[in-house]
Amino acid sequence: MVNASDSGRDAREVFRLDNETLAFRFTATVSSRRADPFERLTTPERLDLWLDANGLRLGSKTACAADLAAAHALREAVYRAGKAVADRRRPDPADIAAVNAAVRQGRAYLELGEESARWRSDGPAPVGDALALIAENAIQILGGHDRQRVKACEGPGCGGLYLDTSRGGNRRWCSMNTCGNRAKKAAMRVPRRQTPPT
Ligand SMILES: [Zn+2]
Repeated sequence: MVNASDSGRDAREVFRLDNETLAFRFTATVSSRRADPFERLTTPERLDLWLDANGLRLGSKTACAADLAAAHALREAVYRAGKAVADRRRPDPADIAAVNAAVRQGRAYLELGEESARWRSDGPAPVGDALALIAENAIQILGGHDRQRVKACEGPGCGGLYLDTSRGGNRRWCSMNTCGNRAKKAAMRVPRRQTPPT
């Protein structure tokens, strides 16, 4: 169930869903992290909306307040650990423990559908199972060879995590469509100095 304020709303109006990496798409439910953090995952209904939009609504059960608290805790642990990796620091052991604890409770399985594969769960805690998949993705990225490519967005105030898959490893923004465009427009507004005639 989605509450009145969010009923019928497209998840794309509420969240930024353009990050290619699942775990970082999840951490992006807080925007403007470096300036004025803005929480988009405000209610259990919003959590259901996000999970649904990301193929992680694993059962008919809706999220409860405890699920939302668990989601916030995992998300911030993933963000802090990811930011540490981006800064080439060691993550805090407490954040590592939180991510590892989240993945252990997962009981989701992948099922072949008619057109694609989908995650399912028959367990009593489908939201916990979905969070476990997010934690697993974070472990694969932050613990695998892609960790060298983890970066924090240079966009004004953003700080969002992303995986720099560019060939030259020179990508600076979490998304070209948002932060990249904003930075380009800001650069264009700076008047160019006229070159004096020689
Ligand atoms: Zn950004």
